[in-house]
Amino acid sequence: MTTAYDTGVSRTDLAEAEALSRLHSYLRVDVKADPTVPEGQCEWCGNVGALTRNRVTAIPNPHETTATFEELCCHHCLKSVVDSAVEAHWSKAGRDVLVEVAL
Ligand SMILES: [Zn+2]
Repeated sequence: MTTAYDTGVSRTDLAEAEALSRLHSYLRVDVKADPTVPEGQCEWCGNVGALTRNRVTAIPNPHETTATFEELCCHHCLKSVVDSAVEAHWSKAGRDVLVEVAL
């Protein structure tokens, strides 16, 4: 049931939007929520219990490499993975580096 004041935006939605907005400000790349990011051991730090909660994708210059950039990492490793992604990213890719976060 809805009231005249119900915006359809839940408190959880607002918290999620706020978290994504802060991440975007911090990382300066595209950020979106994606609950399908597979959870597993973070290979970047290898710390016991560090689970992958982020997927970072970039598009390298196809004239220079056939490699793709898609990495899973924990929150602790996110900044360094994003830095690597930005370095690998092709400026003419048509989109920015993307971080998908399982919130
Ligand atoms: Zn990690």
